[in-house]
Amino acid sequence: MPFNTRKITVIPGDGIGPEVIAAALKVVEAAGVALDPDIQQAGASCFAKGIETGVPRETIESIEKTKVVLKGPLETPIGYGNKSANVTLRTLFETFGNLRPVRELPGVHTPFTGRNLDIVIVRENVEDLYTGIEYMQTPGVAQALKIISHTGCQKIVELAFEFAVAAGRKRVHCATKANILKLTEGMLQHTFEEIAPRYPEIEAKHILIDNCAHQLAMRPEQFDVIVTTNMNGDILSDLTSGLTGGLGFAPSANIGNGAAIFEAVHGSAPDIAGKNLANPTAIILSAAMMLRHIGEGAAADDIEQAVLVTLESGIRSGDMPGTAKPTGTIEFADAIISNLGRESTSKGARDFRAVKIPAATSEVQVVKTQSRRVTGIDVFIESSLQPAELAEGLKDVVAGTTVSLQMIGNRGNTVYPVEDDRSVTLVDQYRCRFMKQDRNDNLTNAEILSLLTKIGEEHIWMHVEKLQQFDGVDAFSRTKK
Ligand code: NAP
Repeated sequence: MPFNTRKITVIPGDGIGPEVIAAALKVVEAAGVALDPDIQQAGASCFAKGIETGVPRETIESIEKTKVVLKGPLETPIGYGNKSANVTLRTLFETFGNLRPVRELPGVHTPFTGRNLDIVIVRENVEDLYTGIEYMQTPGVAQALKIISHTGCQKIVELAFEFAVAAGRKRVHCATKANILKLTEGMLQHTFEEIAPRYPEIEAKHILIDNCAHQLAMRPEQFDVIVTTNMNGDILSDLTSGLTGGLGFAPSANIGNGAAIFEAVHGSAPDIAGKNLANPTAIILSAAMMLRHIGEGAAADDIEQAVLVTLESGIRSGDMPGTAKPTGTIEFADAIISNLGRESTSKGARDFRAVKIPAATSEVQVVKTQSRRVTGIDVFIESSLQPAELAEGLKDVVAGTTVSLQMIGNRGNTVYPVEDDRSVTLVDQYRCRFMKQDRNDNLTNAEILSLLTKIGEEHIWMHVEKLQQFDGVDAFSRTKK
């Protein structure tokens, strides 16, 4: 082993993982970077051994030491175990930012060829619906919690702008559904608007996520960097992979304070595993992102140029359209190696500096307020009664207390009080809003507990939310008419 090697953790993974990872390590070595890969396991083989998270202790310890991972795809078991090894890794090392760059590649023909696409999705990677907090509220109604924190938004927005600066990008779009989800998705929009002025050299624009998807299909060339929440980013980044040639060409980096994990966007493609058919481009480009992360920018540029030169030469992997004989995984990597040191005629190297990663802190993050008050509660009740009947019963329950029934909702519709005879499909989960009669007063915990006891004598309740005001502003969604 040469001196001054950089130790990294390598997880070959499942399906086509071991083949494409071997190809990537061969290319990195040929590019002259002295790596000392610590080969570790995760995924299907570990689930089969009964490791419930899919990630053994030794793998975790290796990542704690190396802080850099090159990872193959990991299969998520369906029907046994209850975790995804990918989610375990993301959560353990809090890789909060997922960078997914795509660009038009020579020889990879798509309906968008000629538009010079070069887009990076910066996806928040740990919050949102992917915290996976779900409940069956009644036997027929499920609920998932969409958790978005100001700190999480700050970190992902700062990462997006820092990446834009480091990569010489001009524009950052923030894509949200803030028109409907004003508090959760809206938090990303507001944080983006707070932080954008710190980066005057970068044009900052907010766009609604549905329009963003439409624009990506119609005029994708207008986009440079797009920052978005976890689930939106998951979907949009597969879309952008499709614009430029598919999963075989899409690299990614999972950036955290404690560790960074580099992997292709694609999965284990079991149908082509072990056949030397997989396209190794995505993982080779992911390895180039890893090299940039560990300060080997020149080798990263060299590999990226060699990939472009190889594609310009007319070589075709099995997932590319065309009739030329497909090149196998190993031969594809060998062709890239033979082109190291050559410059692409179509694309120059980017002027790329190291990305400044937002700092971590062990302190609990708190957004301070001057005043706060609980003005009411939403109680979720399981009932097969009609809304008017339920309302009459609840009014009797709260008679003589300090609260009154303000409204009843069902699947987002206000079903009590109603002014007209609309017919809505009702399910047995009602959201019943009780407000303090004096809205300047605070609803105490004792009052809430007494109210829940009374409601519980008549109905099944399964969930309670306090309706709070922070600095005089309602901190809950209004009811829909
Ligand atoms: P997938 O493995 O990405 O494969 C979908 C299809 O895309 C393959 O059948 C293959 O198409 C094509 N493909 C993907 N990568 C390719 C490559 N490098 N070269 C050539 N063709 C490629 O998606 P999936 O079938 O939905 O998922 C399979 C497993 O992977 C699941 O267990 C899933 O949980 C896991 N997964 C893991 C990750 C990760 O670890 N980050 C990500 C996604 C999925 P053809 O049929 O045309 O050959």
